[in-house]
Amino acid sequence: MMNGKTILVVEDNAQNRELVSDLLVLAGVRVLMAEDAETALELATREVVDLVLMDVSLPRMDGLEATRQLKGDPATAQLPVVALTAHAMKGDRERILAAGCDGYLTKPIDTRGFSDAVARYLTGGSPPKPA
Ligand code: MN
Repeated sequence: MMNGKTILVVEDNAQNRELVSDLLVLAGVRVLMAEDAETALELATREVVDLVLMDVSLPRMDGLEATRQLKGDPATAQLPVVALTAHAMKGDRERILAAGCDGYLTKPIDTRGFSDAVARYLTGGSPPKPA
């Protein structure tokens, strides 16, 4: 269901990066990876990307600032951004959505449901409204 799609995974933790990448590759996705926001912003403008999975907590520029920049650039404003966060408390959720993220997934990653959850943000071009 995600065959042929390209997803940019932005995650500074190598173990999480590998896990997310493995799960997406199994689902037929072409995966691009970035360890930091700066690299992610460059890749998002240089490559054709269908979706960004954005870790919130990154060194230097965090994932929320990177999302604001993506959403503020006409070249990438339409690109869906799904936050990856260890914190999904009420305030965090609001901060994530206020930054322009289309939704979020929580860590630790649920390996069984992960690719289906990501696919929901790709289908039909209109991501589900967060609850
Ligand atoms: Mn992190």
